[in-house]
Amino acid sequence: MSITADQHVHSHHSADSEERMERIAEQAIAAGLRDLCFTEHNDFDYPDVGDEEIKKTTFYLDTDAYHEEYLSVRERYADRIRLHFGVELGLQPHLAEENRAFVQAKPYDLVIASIHVSRGRDPYYPAFYEGRTEEEAMREILEETLENIRVFDDFDVLGHLDYILRYVPSGRQTMDMDPFSDLLDEILALLIRRGQGLDLNSQPIWKKGYPEMNPSRQILLRYRALGGRIITFGSDAHRAANVAGGFDRAAALARACGFDGYAVYSGRSGQMRPL
Ligand SMILES: [Zn+2]
Ligand SMILES: [Zn+2]
Repeated sequence: MSITADQHVHSHHSADSEERMERIAEQAIAAGLRDLCFTEHNDFDYPDVGDEEIKKTTFYLDTDAYHEEYLSVRERYADRIRLHFGVELGLQPHLAEENRAFVQAKPYDLVIASIHVSRGRDPYYPAFYEGRTEEEAMREILEETLENIRVFDDFDVLGHLDYILRYVPSGRQTMDMDPFSDLLDEILALLIRRGQGLDLNSQPIWKKGYPEMNPSRQILLRYRALGGRIITFGSDAHRAANVAGGFDRAAALARACGFDGYAVYSGRSGQMRPL
């Protein structure tokens, strides 16, 4: 396997996973990885989605408990794999200040910025798409993404840019991004200018059998054409069995889009490794 670092994985420290960190480390070793980065969820101010189980604070990360267990697991596996301490941080424009303080409070290796909530709604739920086309929903997400990364820049890679394609009611696997090229170019150019990258998320491949990752080939080609080189690979596994899922295909897709390397993050700094 040519990808030797999975840099987007959730353990029980994320509200939507129950997996033990040790099991993830062991699976990563078995899969031949040299590096694995835990990227637990932190989403401040999660909206009311009409589910009694999910509160505003559901996705608040207990960073002390997470850091403490991480240090002990890292130590235990140190001779077999390098484990890294990351976070998948949910952006919303009004949280910029709070998110800045959050990132500075712990020694993260990698910060993935993700948009899980747009204008008070999560695209995971069907209500997000009611009364509009899926293209209109995509436009909103891109506008919101641009707004978010303009007001907040303390992150390393942007997560699953076209994430709504996992959840659109039609079940379609791709969407033509040409109608959004102005917005998309602004997002990609800003990332490139700031030395930030794209997180290539293979979950659609291993979970749904889709032919593409998030973001899609069309977005990757555009990022590359604008001069973007920094990519990371992440399975977005929430169970050990899915660590490094879909990585063979992910590597082939990235190569076909013109990437010959990927970044591995430690201490918020990426080192390129050949693909
Ligand atoms: Zn996410
Ligand atoms: Zn994730």
